[in-house]
Amino acid sequence: MRPPFHLMAKPTSYQCNLDCDYCFYLEKQHYFQKGQERPKKDTFSHMSDEVLKAYIKQYIQSQDTPVVEFAWQGGEPTTAGLDFFKKAIQYQRRFANGKQINNSLQTNGVLINDDWCRFLKQHNFLVGISIDGPKEFHDHYRLSQGGKPTFDKVMAAIERMKQHKVEFNTLTVLNDLNIDHPHKVYQFLKGIGSTFLQFIPIVEQQEIRADSDRAMLIYPESTTEKKLMPFSADGKKYGDFMVAVFDEWVRKDVGKVYVQMFDCALTAWYGHEAPLCIFRKECGKGMVIERNGDLYSCDHYVYPEYYLGNILEEDMSRLANQPVQSAFGKAKADDLGIACKCCEFRFACNGGCPKHRIHDNADGSRQNHLCAGYKKFFRHVSPYMDYMVKELRSNRAPASIMYAADRIALQASA
Ligand code: SF4
Ligand code: SF4
Ligand code: SF4
Repeated sequence: MRPPFHLMAKPTSYQCNLDCDYCFYLEKQHYFQKGQERPKKDTFSHMSDEVLKAYIKQYIQSQDTPVVEFAWQGGEPTTAGLDFFKKAIQYQRRFANGKQINNSLQTNGVLINDDWCRFLKQHNFLVGISIDGPKEFHDHYRLSQGGKPTFDKVMAAIERMKQHKVEFNTLTVLNDLNIDHPHKVYQFLKGIGSTFLQFIPIVEQQEIRADSDRAMLIYPESTTEKKLMPFSADGKKYGDFMVAVFDEWVRKDVGKVYVQMFDCALTAWYGHEAPLCIFRKECGKGMVIERNGDLYSCDHYVYPEYYLGNILEEDMSRLANQPVQSAFGKAKADDLGIACKCCEFRFACNGGCPKHRIHDNADGSRQNHLCAGYKKFFRHVSPYMDYMVKELRSNRAPASIMYAADRIALQASA
């Protein structure tokens, strides 16, 4: 059996109908291979039929599994239009060869109307909607191309999806503003009906000599002088945020609300590798396919230095399994410094995402910007995780922790 890999498709590349201050993808146009066509922002060109067909055919053929997962992201994938996705479904059916095909779509929600909802429901898409909490937080950074607020449009999309029974979850970017308000953000997300929550702390760096306020993209290992963008999440505050949400969740919502990081922790405490790449030992199994068929090592590493090849010129399986990609994957563990190697939470954290390792250590390695937060979170949840693992090993539902949480907290503070 060939090693499995996952692709995240960017059918519209960096093009988006929003202009979020912290977006790390809008400026990719400056970094792509020379000679690539660069459309104007308002033309919203998308993956050609030739690339779409090759992508779907090769991706299904390259997976030796009965289920193939397609993930559509951006930029904003819905700007490719409904017809593009109808075509994608046609190709998936044509090349499925008896395999089950699942689709997920990450969107800012602005274009989601009734037609989209009917389509998404009909084809069982799982929709991830980006929302940064209540209006005052969301509208701070998530603005339209014209600088207008977008919260009301996103909420309208969520209501529409609920009416059409489209399955959705939420992705909340934690930044310097909403990170101070864990209870408000968590209550809000539960209130709008989200039962699967992803919190993504934003950590971006800017070239010091860049003549723009925007996060001029710079690949993490670059030796150019750079500084942390002001909207980035503070490491310690990230820990405070996740602990506050956890304390509420563990008393009221276990089994009803899924918070991705809590699931990852429980999986690690149970003795398995976390489902999320940032907490796994190695990288390299989640690549990006760009609009023109170019493959890159990872969504966080779409830079010329991490270009793997184009699927119209070479077979996707070969591109995904070439030694340079394996080396990219292994570097995550190889580059760990002493602090991580000796850390009691290495089994659950593995040093986090290499993109976030930006602080120089004395041993020549780099420490994750979020390390203080990870440590605080993992230390705090440790006794609760021990309890839930015990329940799971005894074939009991871990939700019983809700009755034990106060006692565990008392013991932990004694
Ligand atoms: S919606 Fe997503 S892709 Fe578009 S600008 Fe915002 S963060 Fe970037
Ligand atoms: S570089 Fe970061 S986002 Fe990419 S695979 Fe590794 S951990 Fe995941
Ligand atoms: S908590 Fe910090 S020291 Fe420990 S493995 Fe994670 S990044 Fe490394």
